[in-house]
Parts: sequence; C-alpha cells; structure tokens
Amino acid sequence: SINFSAGPSALPPSVLAEATAGLLDFAGTGIGIAEISHRSKEFMAFLDETEALIREQLQVPSTHRVLFAQGGGTGQFAAVVLNLLARDVLVRPTLAEGEERVLDYVLTGSWSKAALKEAQQLTAALPGVRLNTVVDAKALSPNNAYDRTPPHSAYNFSADPALIFYCENETVNGVQFSKASESDPSPDAADIDETGFPFHLLPKGKLLPLVADYSSSFMSRPIPRLADHAVIYAGAQKNIAPAGLTILIVREDCLVDTAAAALLGAPPVPSVLSYKYLADGKSVPNTPPVFSIYVAGLVLRRMKALGGLEAFEAVNRRKKEGVYRAIREGEERGVFRGKVGEGEGGSWMNVVWEVVGDGAEERFLKGAGERGMKSLKGHRSVGGIRASLYNAVEEEEVAKLVEYMREFVEAETT
Ligand code: PLP
Repeated sequence: SINFSAGPSALPPSVLAEATAGLLDFAGTGIGIAEISHRSKEFMAFLDETEALIREQLQVPSTHRVLFAQGGGTGQFAAVVLNLLARDVLVRPTLAEGEERVLDYVLTGSWSKAALKEAQQLTAALPGVRLNTVVDAKALSPNNAYDRTPPHSAYNFSADPALIFYCENETVNGVQFSKASESDPSPDAADIDETGFPFHLLPKGKLLPLVADYSSSFMSRPIPRLADHAVIYAGAQKNIAPAGLTILIVREDCLVDTAAAALLGAPPVPSVLSYKYLADGKSVPNTPPVFSIYVAGLVLRRMKALGGLEAFEAVNRRKKEGVYRAIREGEERGVFRGKVGEGEGGSWMNVVWEVVGDGAEERFLKGAGERGMKSLKGHRSVGGIRASLYNAVEEEEVAKLVEYMREFVEAETT
C-alpha cells in the first residue's frame, strides 16, 4: 500500500529492513540497537555520523549546534520560550520603566497557534512579558481560514523581541513559506516573493531570536537563511525516523545558563528542556531515543547516497507539482476545490483539497483505499483530503495518486 499519512508517516522499506537487522545486531557488536548502551563507542560514533550527515546536507554553519532531544514539537513550543526568555534576562536583567520582553508570533495555521497557546500559559503570570501576534493569516483570508501565507505588508514585528516564532510548514492546513526568496540575490528587491518568509523585514544588525518549526518539512529541501535562525527544530516522525526524536539546530548564543537566569527572575527550566544542558552533554546527558536516532542515521545515509538534499528537493518539487496540477484540472471540471493555491503558500509536503458534491469525498477515499492508498483523509479540524508527500513517498507512488485523481474526475463527470 501507499501511505500518505501526515505523521507518523512512511519510512523507506530498505531502511526498515536495515533497522530490523540492527535490532538484533547493531554495527557488528552482537548487541541490538535497542539494547546497547548509548555511551558505547559504537553508538557515539553513529551519533556523530548522523550529526555530520545533517550538517553536511543542510550546510549548518559552525555558529550552530545540532542537538538530539525528546519531547517532540510540543516540547519545543515550551523549550524555545524558556530558553530564549532566559537568554533575554541574562542580556537585560532589569527592565527600565515601560520596557517589556516581547515574544513575537507569526500565525499561519494550527501549529503556530498551538505554539502561541503554550507561550501564553508559560508567561501569563510573568511581569514584563508580552506576546505579540505579528500577523494572523486567518484574519486576512477572505475565507476566514488558514489557507495562504500573509502578504509582507501585513507583518508587524516588534522592534526588539526576545523571540520571533514561525512555523515553516503548517502540517494541518497545508500552508508553507515558499523558498523562492532565498534564491533572490537582493532580498530587499521589489520583486521579492510575497509568499516567502519576510526575512528582509526583521530587525537588522543583531543576532536574531528567530525560531522556526520545521517539523513537517525538515530535510525535504534546503533551509533558507539557516544562519539567521536562533533555533530550528523538527520532530523526526515525518521525514526522518519514528516518533521520539526531535532534531534541533541551535545557535551558540542560545545555549544559556538557565539556572543563572532563573536566579534573576526568568522562569526555571527543567534540565531536559535546557539547550545548554543538552549541548554540554553532547545530546546524551540522559538516555536518548536510541532507536529513533538509529533510523534517522540510516535515512540520512540513504539520502546522501541518493544525491542528497538537492536531489530530494527536485523530486519533492515534481511530486507536489503533479498533485497541484491534478487538483487544478479537477477544479476546471468542478470535481475538486483546492484549499491552498500552489502559488499562495501551498505546501510541498501536505497538499490539501476538497472533493465537491454529495458523498463525493467518501467515494474518493473509498476508491483510493481500493487502490491501496492510505491516510488521505484531511485533518479532522479542516476536513477534505490531505496527501502528505514526505521524502519516503516515492515519485512513482505520487504518480499513481495523480493518475487516480484524473480517473476520479473522469468518472464523476461522465
Ligand atoms: N509542529 C508541527 C508543524 C507539527 O506538524 C506537529 C505534529 O504533527 C507538531 C508541531 C507537534 O509535534 P509533536 O507531536 O512531535 O509534539
């Protein structure tokens, strides 16, 4: 069958076979990966290699650390607030009259809203801390829905925030920042892509507290302006590995002494959420999710062998183009209705659309099921259809979906 699940999602069969063998015998040690000490030299070597594969393919600069954590994207909704508030308190221990610590949130879908909600509950009782909604894309949509990236003119960044949060790919709503602006040699140029993240509008001349949730797009294409980010994080369970592992890219100045900050009035930070604790302990200050890390390493090795991130980007581009094209064809015949336009922030990884007409959605899903295509039902909060086209979903498999979409349109209109 073909698994279009939004997460946990498909993993390459060859990697699963290798991982199964590793469960019995890891790296020729005679001990299984789930049973071997995370401090063994074999596991540490594997961890180093996994980090190197990420650094190399994403071209992570030496200013940034690659860390492996647990707690998922949800854990990071809290961790980014706690670590960056601690950083701000260490830089500015006392606030002058009228001064505040502002956390900026860009809202483009349900995950960025969830991140804001977590920040709200963590900071509600803290004096001098304020949350700012930089932009709420839903309020700007004629459909009152998260169905596009906002125009750059609508962003309202704070002058000197302690944190700036955005979700690069909204898994539920299928909205993603385009990366076209990255290839623009002059980011302030008038022809800058309005669907990209507006890096050119951010405060200039300082180390930005910029945080990006890459949970559902990590390693699917290069990361624009990676070096400008304070923290990039991704739960592994979409493109990389089974759930349980969260991959972080953290700039050195965000590895702060959270205990010292707490003495100055910052909220206390549990060790497992502290970036410095994780970095000082080389990602193994406590027991890491060894099996997830193992699969991640195998997936990343396979990626490199298949041509690396650029090769995957090219394939992923063709995959999404095929599905969006089929949606547009179905729209012309009145059978489909796209939820997010391909050129308006339509996600490469999670493509969402509706099937128009009485019982038509059920017919579509039933036909898909008969062809072995699984997990195409949209998220319960938005309905419709969602096809997740993560790295492990092969181009031929997406071609089968596209073929089925065309057949379905024919059947519905004749
Ligand atoms: N952020 C994004 C973009 C997600 O897609 C998800 C989960 O699907 C999360 C955060 C939450 O991640 P987790 O379930 O790992 O806590």
